[in-house]
Amino acid sequence: MSSWTLAGARAAAFRLTGLFGKLTACKGSEFEGVIAQEQTRGGVVGVKIKDVEAMVLQSSRQYAAPSRAEESHGIGSMLVIKVTTDAGISGYSDVETQPQVGKAVIDAPAGGTGMIDGLRQALIGEDPFEVERLWHKMYKCSVYYGRRGAAIQALSGVDNCLWSIIGQAVKQPICKLLGACWRNKVRAYASTLFRPTPEAMAEACRSYIDQGFTAVKFGWGAFGQDPKLDVELARAAREALGPDRELLIDPGWAVERTADECVRLVRSLEPFRPFFVEDCLPPEDYDGYARLANSVETPIAAGEQEATHWGFRQLIERGRIDIVQPDLSRCGGLTTGRRIAHMVEEHNIGLIPHAWSSDILTATTLQFLAYTKKADFIEFNVSSGEISRQLAKNPIVMKDGHLEIPDRPGTGIEVDEAVLHRYRVL
Ligand SMILES: [Mg+2]
Repeated sequence: MSSWTLAGARAAAFRLTGLFGKLTACKGSEFEGVIAQEQTRGGVVGVKIKDVEAMVLQSSRQYAAPSRAEESHGIGSMLVIKVTTDAGISGYSDVETQPQVGKAVIDAPAGGTGMIDGLRQALIGEDPFEVERLWHKMYKCSVYYGRRGAAIQALSGVDNCLWSIIGQAVKQPICKLLGACWRNKVRAYASTLFRPTPEAMAEACRSYIDQGFTAVKFGWGAFGQDPKLDVELARAAREALGPDRELLIDPGWAVERTADECVRLVRSLEPFRPFFVEDCLPPEDYDGYARLANSVETPIAAGEQEATHWGFRQLIERGRIDIVQPDLSRCGGLTTGRRIAHMVEEHNIGLIPHAWSSDILTATTLQFLAYTKKADFIEFNVSSGEISRQLAKNPIVMKDGHLEIPDRPGTGIEVDEAVLHRYRVL
């Protein structure tokens, strides 16, 4: 045994002996007090994971692009993960993935190798305070079928639940656990879909201005079918928003484009001064992103489909993008988010997370943005669908163009079990 592991074992033995002494000297409520104290510290008598539940929610309507100026419905189905503990504390997360596949990643049994297993069985009985070790345990137990996609997305959801549990156990907001709470509010941009005509774009912009937004992102929807129409839609948005509000553009990459076509697209939008142009190439085209970012003045943002710190290193160092957009329900959760924040700081580039789901992800992202040294925006999903903004008893509300970062334990929001039950189909 090396000297440091020996020292660690001695320290652990000392703590165990000390705790045993304390416990045997106590009775009744005193005994419970010591237990509670140790639980609060996350010490030897720790909180243990009792269950991991994966729920599939379905809203009443399908995801569809707006046909006029009306708000889009947004996501039609969602995976919600709930981790419960023997201390009565639960953590929730929503995950933007294929919900039935994500549920299978959680529920699958152990396969016997420790590498083709479901996540739930790997977590029962574990201490949520060891969130980083559990990240690696989940990554390893899904490595033969995972590493990217649904497996990392389910892992991300569990990871966010564990951070929420730790925060509730020690009665602190997650930003304090991460190591910094730089701010108590973040500027929000309304995140919505492109409307099909310039008139509908202008009408939609006026409604966001009336609500108090100072920045709007239009994405996907009608964009990408006709380059001339694309320019007219962006022009209408800029004119309606006026010179002082920010316009953000997400052309989407469902339309196949080469890097050179993307360069021409971004140059056609530059007269309308977008704050950034996002994700116009397939997520694996790192060299295309580098070619694009080096060819235009407008900042290029990407990363909502990227996963793990290894993936983000590629996107940052090879893709040379200006703004990184990790989605905390896809990238590997807050544990990976913290590593990405460090990379972003080392490379001195921008970080504006993707978050187009429910209040749970928005609240988790707010805690993350309290932690990052710089925070330009939070993405605020303004979809009209029921499951986007109804899952919390204390929903997040935009005020004066900003979202407040709750100074309450964990994520700071209370999930409404009755609403989960209403929309749960599996
Ligand atoms: Mg996007």
